[in-house]
Amino acid sequence: MNLQDPIDILKGVGQQRLKLLHQIGIYTIEDLLGYFPRTYEDWSRITSIEDLLIGGTYTVRAKIISVPQTVKKGRLTITTARVQDATGTISVVWYNQPYLKNYFLRETIYIFTGKIKSYNGGLQLLSPDYEKLDVSDENGNLGILPIYVLPKNLSQKIFRQWMKECVEQVGSQVQEFIPDWIRKKYQLADFSYAIFHIHFPKDREHFLTARKRLVFEEFFLLQIGLFQIKKGIEKQKKGITFQPIEEMECFVQQLPFSLTQAQQRVVNEIQQDMCSSHAMNRLVQGDVGSGKTIVAAIALLHAVKNGYQGSMMAPTEVLAFQHYETLQQLLEPLGIKTALLTGSLTKKQKDQIGEQISNHEVDVVVGTHALIQESVSFHKLGLVITDEQHRFGVRQRISLSQKGESPDVLVMTATPIPRTLALILYGDLDISIIDELPPGRQKIKTYAVTTSYRKRLYQFIEKEIEKGRQVYMICPMVEESETLELESVLEYTENLQKKIFPHYRIAYLHGKMKPKEKTDIMELFSNGYIQILVSTTVVEVGVNVPNATLMVIENAERFGLSQLHQLRGRVGRGTDQSYCILISDAKNKIALERMKVMTDTTDGFKISEMDLKLRGPGDFFGTKQHGLPELKIANLYEDMQILKYAQEATQDLYKKDPHLEQENHYFLRQKVNQLFKNNDEVLVL
Ligand code: ADP
Ligand code: MG
Repeated sequence: MNLQDPIDILKGVGQQRLKLLHQIGIYTIEDLLGYFPRTYEDWSRITSIEDLLIGGTYTVRAKIISVPQTVKKGRLTITTARVQDATGTISVVWYNQPYLKNYFLRETIYIFTGKIKSYNGGLQLLSPDYEKLDVSDENGNLGILPIYVLPKNLSQKIFRQWMKECVEQVGSQVQEFIPDWIRKKYQLADFSYAIFHIHFPKDREHFLTARKRLVFEEFFLLQIGLFQIKKGIEKQKKGITFQPIEEMECFVQQLPFSLTQAQQRVVNEIQQDMCSSHAMNRLVQGDVGSGKTIVAAIALLHAVKNGYQGSMMAPTEVLAFQHYETLQQLLEPLGIKTALLTGSLTKKQKDQIGEQISNHEVDVVVGTHALIQESVSFHKLGLVITDEQHRFGVRQRISLSQKGESPDVLVMTATPIPRTLALILYGDLDISIIDELPPGRQKIKTYAVTTSYRKRLYQFIEKEIEKGRQVYMICPMVEESETLELESVLEYTENLQKKIFPHYRIAYLHGKMKPKEKTDIMELFSNGYIQILVSTTVVEVGVNVPNATLMVIENAERFGLSQLHQLRGRVGRGTDQSYCILISDAKNKIALERMKVMTDTTDGFKISEMDLKLRGPGDFFGTKQHGLPELKIANLYEDMQILKYAQEATQDLYKKDPHLEQENHYFLRQKVNQLFKNNDEVLVL
């Protein structure tokens, strides 16, 4: 057996199972080895109920014998259940997690880990962690067993068998690529040790050692990738020195609102950058609705009044169009000519706008990726802005700035990430934060409900519409099939229109529509004609319709926290009370916790921190929305220290060997090339 062998050389892999393996990205033996467990079942640590002692922390394997009960005591909700193993029974209690009541099934075996307390003369297991037991292991062997994320029809048992066979036969063939001097410095296990003990750890110690190496490896490669890209642009230190402009004060004065303190601070930071001789390279982080667009507009005004052109790139046509309209309104009265450049224009239109850009008839161009096409050339580009930065690759951001001679660069994102993390991931950028919402915004009331509330939901929708408000409904997502997605939007809308709300004006949006159709629909929604807008997640980024006050999200469990937060951010943009209703019948722990976070807080920073915490390895849903790289095993929240080490190691590495030419870096270079070969996707920063 060799690492490169196709996976179907394994015994028991036929057509059917081959398909399932391909589904999870496993084609070769090497792929299999790189498919890490999500968690483990630690049989070696299970204690019988009769052996439990007060004060100790134990893992118990037991069956639920009574339906969990929930009682309220003041502000506390107490959920209790009784569980049993071969040696006895014990009660289990959780506080303020009422949803657990529906999670546990009677007569089903779970693994609980928690502390034992005395209660009413008996024993009680206090707020334990829990995990449903895989049936195939009910009479299983002892030891620490890996649990993998697998497609429905693939059992843990057979998958483990394959893994065992491969680890034993070829686990030692994997090629070490982290240089010895780095492994020594950070005390990292070698690659084959790590592979072995991540799948079949002898004990916790071995597991932790293996994991540390793999986490480091993942961050290290990521940092190298970032470093290479940054090296490619090598901050051109010298930039344009803009002069302060007279029009500024008057412009800010005549806005329909006054800037928040946070906006003002960020505007000042940008002004300082622009007026200095070095090129600005700044990231503006501001939660959804914090008012980033106006900050961008002010910077554009500054550039244009200095005789330069400015451009602003947005990830979708809908958003680009909206920005175009906003900027036009704000800037044209000052004699600034704006234009929109998107992929859906005809060739003739594009050529015409291209012409205007290159001979400087146009001062500000708003657009999508179309802006970075080769044919677009500016006469005198001085400022480049990317909105919703996390949707673009690093390379795209750079291509746009290469259209001018060291223009100032501003990137904006609504994805709040903890500051320390931002510093590492966006290391080449200065950071400004808009940490304040415009006055008068009310907290968006958020409710998580099951589908049994549908009737009441419809009544609620009606109430809002009768008040003159508008509603977004994010319809159920369909996995990985665009045609299915389409059908589901159509069907969902038709049902709503025919059976539920025949008297309302309803329209839908989906990813397959022509951009022109999308912007037309958005226009009708924006001017209040359309009352209910059914959509897939295309409305997610940036759109601003302040009269919309209700966001309904079907299958909310399918979304990551940051994505839910973005979606919710479409409402609450005016001064009316807004609502977000999350519909989900999901009962799994993470989904329930996500719902809880959403209903508890609207603070984007808190949410993103929870997102990092809750996103276990192997659970990448929504990473792209977050703007963070996909990680297989590392956790950006918990493994921050290792991330710092990896960053440090990368700096040392490049100091020693800037082109990775030394012999002892040969395998590392190979690995890096293989990983980052034109692969922008790896780095969605
Ligand atoms: P985001 O930061 O999500 O891009 P926008 O720039 O789209 O937010 O702004 C959201 C809404 O808030 C817009 O309608 C905008 O006009 C309004 N707004 C921005 N700044 C202020 C402010 N200082 N006071 C009141 N409203 C504001
Ligand atoms: Mg925005």
